[in-house]
Amino acid sequence: MASVLVVGGGICGLGTALLLARDGHEVTLFERDTGPVPESAEQAWSSWERAGVAQFRQPHNFMPGLRRLLEAELPDVQERLRRSGASRFDMRRSTTAQNAQNRRLFKNFREAQLARQEKRLPCPSRER
Ligand SMILES: Cc1cc2nc3c(=O)[nH]c(=O)nc-3n(C[C@H](O)[C@H](O)[C@H](O)COP(=O)(O)OP(=O)(O)OC[C@H]3O[C@@H](n4cnc5c(N)ncnc54)[C@H](O)[C@@H]3O)c2cc1C
Repeated sequence: MASVLVVGGGICGLGTALLLARDGHEVTLFERDTGPVPESAEQAWSSWERAGVAQFRQPHNFMPGLRRLLEAELPDVQERLRRSGASRFDMRRSTTAQNAQNRRLFKNFREAQLARQEKRLPCPSRER
């Protein structure tokens, strides 16, 4: 088994580190952003500063390739994402109810974003 050094704890670095570690390799991950990992998705959204990931505070979706990879290799990660609030959306079978739910999610996101701006919270990624 190899000793592997991964630089960067974004989605690619974390995914790489997780898969290699589960294959039995010894993995060390270096991440430039300091500070503890929040305990909940809500805390991550409200207060986790990730200056190294400029697009951190935005809604995100996983495309089918990554979803399939999660299903095959990391089903526990997918389940944890689901329990943290991620929802599954199939565009081919989207119903009026799902579209309404997505509109609500984006409305909530937009309101949270405006609230942050009103509080004039710093945007560390722009300060670098
Ligand atoms: C506005 C926007 C919206 C997006 N929306 C989506 C979406 O909805 N769905 C989707 O699949 N993709 C989306 N993407 C693309 C996706 O965010 C990127 O493809 C993905 O973040 C790349 O992952 P990464 O791990 O390579 O890099 P990053 O996510 O950029 O992570 C890099 C990490 O490395 C760390 N780092 C950098 N330098 C060092 C160093 N010298 N030492 C230690 N650590 C370091 C950083 O702090 C950071 O944590 C979006 C991108 C943008 C810009």
